[in-house]
Amino acid sequence: MIYQGGCHCGKIAFEVEGELTQAIECNCSHCSKKGYLLWFLARAQLRLSSPADALATYTFNKHAIKHHYCPDCGCAPFGVGASPAGAATAAVNVRCLEGVTPSTLTIVPVDGRFIKTTAAPQRLFS
Ligand SMILES: [Zn+2]
Repeated sequence: MIYQGGCHCGKIAFEVEGELTQAIECNCSHCSKKGYLLWFLARAQLRLSSPADALATYTFNKHAIKHHYCPDCGCAPFGVGASPAGAATAAVNVRCLEGVTPSTLTIVPVDGRFIKTTAAPQRLFS
């Protein structure tokens, strides 16, 4: 299935191909403040359909993950990084996908707040 995604104002638009059944809800300081519900998938499953220079980028901790957001409307639809095995990985915020009702998904909690040293998003990526 192909999902259409984007930010609120439309400056960022993308497609994701895959079967979405569950999303990760991490309680670390970053994920919880942004309200992320994340779908991890291979980077190749995400196709940006808006110009790459429309993306603003936030990094923290090891600065290994690029957390992209819209500089106009502030939505944070996805981040990119590498899996622990080194594969290019994307984490899509399912709240930014059209036609997805999060309450129909299996929500998998991750205790990123407890994993203090590297923070869960880093751990999930690499
Ligand atoms: Zn926007």
